Amino acid sequence: AKEQGRNHWQSYAPAMNASMLARLSLESELRHALERGQFHLVYQPQVELDSGRIVGMEALLRWQHPTLGAIAPGDFIHLAEEMGLIVPIGAWVLQTACAQAKAWQRQGLGGLRLAVNLSARQFRQSGLLQSVREILAVTGLEARFLELELTESMMMQDVEQAISTMGKLKTLGLQLSIDDFGTGYSSLAHLRHFPIDVLKIDKSFVSDITRSNDDAAIVQAIIALAHSLRLKVIAEGVETAQQLAFLRQHGCDQMQGYLFSRPLAAAAFETLLLEGNML
Ligand code: C2E
Ligand code: CA
Ligand code: CA
Ligand code: CA
Repeated sequence: AKEQGRNHWQSYAPAMNASMLARLSLESELRHALERGQFHLVYQPQVELDSGRIVGMEALLRWQHPTLGAIAPGDFIHLAEEMGLIVPIGAWVLQTACAQAKAWQRQGLGGLRLAVNLSARQFRQSGLLQSVREILAVTGLEARFLELELTESMMMQDVEQAISTMGKLKTLGLQLSIDDFGTGYSSLAHLRHFPIDVLKIDKSFVSDITRSNDDAAIVQAIIALAHSLRLKVIAEGVETAQQLAFLRQHGCDQMQGYLFSRPLAAAAFETLLLEGNML
């Protein structure tokens, strides 16, 4: 049995080593990515459905490695989270995005709201409030233009603690949203105790609203729920005119998606704003 066990191990060893090595090298590359200036942000417009105007943007992180190429956030955020690197990276994201939003305001490009994603580790970190306060002070961006995106799972891990952290963030005067809404398991009973301003409907529901009666019903219900709690609703991942028509018909407030624009580098986003592109 022992012999067999060893053979068993040996037959798995090479494959395991390969993936472990890949992970290790990604880890060591990630450790230096910030200081080496390999990160940048892209911005995706958020459009108000009534007016067709761009009213905000979500900042999204991009990692451009000199030899590995572009690495998607889905492939490194969880690693950064595990390694604790997400805290300095997240602070860099917030600072860079707030500075950019302030620069656009100085150019007279309107009072756009800036949405920034927070990770679970950042949300639990005791220095969060101080860090956000400092970044707002340093960049000069007024808190009311900043929206922090949280997820249901971050809030549900320790509900009391989450409500307390959110309450403290709210005292700064910023907005809070729940990202990917509908994919987690936050109970409706809790929802009204969270000091949030915006619900973002996850793109997995939006993608099927014109094909699946269930998803259409879920999206309608989320919009109704949000409005009854006096929250704004943003649909994400809107890719087709039919999806847009459905969302308009059911009173969704804002949308984000490839139909209007992909996430853009700062210069391209600026061009879009200057052209006054409308939906
Ligand atoms: P998310 O916060 O749900 O961001 C929306 C994702 O959907 C983005 O992917 C965006 O590019 C993509 N998207 C936008 N419109 C469409 C559309 O019409 N169709 C489809 N199929 N996709 C669309 P991205 O940029 O790859 O980011 C993936 C995830 O990585 C984000 O999901 C977020 O959870 C995380 N992430 C990105 N940037 C940051 C960051 O700065 N900090 C943290 N903690 N997480 C981030
Ligand atoms: Ca988000
Ligand atoms: Ca989302
Ligand atoms: Ca997502």
